[in-house]
Amino acid sequence: NSGLSQCFDVISVLGKGGFGWVYKVKHKFDGKIYAVKKVVLTPEADSEVKALARLDHPHIVRYITCWPDSENCTSTQERNKVSKTSGSSSDVVTFERSGCEENDDDADDDDDEDDDVSDVTSGMASLGVTAESASAAGPSGNLDSLNHSKMYLLIQMEFCEGGTLTTWIKDRNLRNKQRNTEEIHKVFHEIIIGVEYIHSNNLIHRDLKPDNILFGTDGKVKIGDFGLVAAQTNHSGDPIERSKKRGTLQYMSPEQENKRNYNEKTDIFPLGLVWFEMLWKLSTGMERVKLWKDLRNQRFPEGFCDSYPTENKFIKEMLSVTPEDRPHAKDIKEKLEMFFPLDQNLLSQKTI
Ligand code: ATP
Ligand code: MG
Ligand code: MG
Repeated sequence: NSGLSQCFDVISVLGKGGFGWVYKVKHKFDGKIYAVKKVVLTPEADSEVKALARLDHPHIVRYITCWPDSENCTSTQERNKVSKTSGSSSDVVTFERSGCEENDDDADDDDDEDDDVSDVTSGMASLGVTAESASAAGPSGNLDSLNHSKMYLLIQMEFCEGGTLTTWIKDRNLRNKQRNTEEIHKVFHEIIIGVEYIHSNNLIHRDLKPDNILFGTDGKVKIGDFGLVAAQTNHSGDPIERSKKRGTLQYMSPEQENKRNYNEKTDIFPLGLVWFEMLWKLSTGMERVKLWKDLRNQRFPEGFCDSYPTENKFIKEMLSVTPEDRPHAKDIKEKLEMFFPLDQNLLSQKTI
C-alpha cells in the first residue's frame, strides 16, 4: 500500500496545477496536518525537492520529506480518472488527472512518451531509486513497464494555513477599502527577504506569482512551488538550462518569456507586478488585460503615481526590460527598510 494512504488521511485537494496535485492531509500517527504535493517524477521534480530540502528559512515553505510512488496506467479511461480514498469511506477525493495527460491518438505521443521515460529514469537515478527498488516501476518492476505506469514523487511539507497571496489580494479587493499600506509593506518585505535568501543560495525561483506565495500558520509569508527552480548562471556566463515547463506568462519577465538567458533578476520582474497588485485594485475583464499590458511596459494607471510615488519609482525599476537595470532583492529590502520602516507592533502581529 504505497502512496499516501498508508500514513495519511486525505482531507482535501488544496491545488491542482499543470504538473501535479497538492493534498491537505492528516498524519495517521503524529496527528498533524501537512501538505503533500504529488508530481510526476521528472528532472524538474528532482530539482524542486532538492531545492526545498536545501532551503531552511522562515519565509520558505518548510520541507519534511519525500518518497516515490507509482500509478499504473492500464487504459486511457483509467489514466484520465483516478480516485483516491482516505482512511474513511465517507472521505473520498476524486479528481481528473491533468499531470499525466497522454493521448493515444496523438502522433506526437511517441516522442512525449520517450521524453517522459527518460525524464523518469534520470529523475529516478538522481534520487537513488533503482528499477528494483521501484516496485514503483510497475507490476513487473522493470523500466519497460514505465511506459504503462507513471513514477511520482510525493513531497511532504508544512501546511500553509493562511492560504495564498491570491486569496489575500482578492479578499482586500472585495472589501474595497482603503489599502493598509503598512500591512502591504510588511508582507512584501517578508516576500523580499524570502527571495533574497533563495538568491543567496544561488537559486532562481522562476515562478514567483501570488498563487505560489503562501501564508503559514504563524501568519508569515512562505514562498512555495519550486517546480521551476534553477541554479543561477555561473560566472563564466553559461546559459541556464531552459525547462520544458514554463512559468505563468502573466508574471513572467520578458527575457524568460523570450527564452533568452537569464539570471536571478528574472525573479525581480514578477515581484514588481506582485507589489503593484497588492497596492492597487485591478478591474476585471478587458480593462484588466489592457492595464496589465501597460504595467508590464512600465505604464501605470492614472492616480497610482500620486497615491504611491515612492513605490511607483521602485516598481518601475523592478519592471525594467533590461535585467541589469532591475535592483537586487537585497537592494529592494534595504530601500523598503529605509523608506517604509516597519512598525514593531505590526511586526509581532499575525498577518492573517
Ligand atoms: P502551478 O501549476 O500553478 O505551478 P503546481 O502544480 O506547481 O501549481 P503548487 O503551486 O506547489 O503546485 O501548489 C498548487 C496550489 O496548492 C498552490 O497554489 C496552493 O493553493 C496550494 N498549496 C501548495 N502548497 C501548499 C502548502 N504547503 N500549504 C497549503 N496550500 C498549498
Ligand atoms: Mg504553483
Ligand atoms: Mg508549479
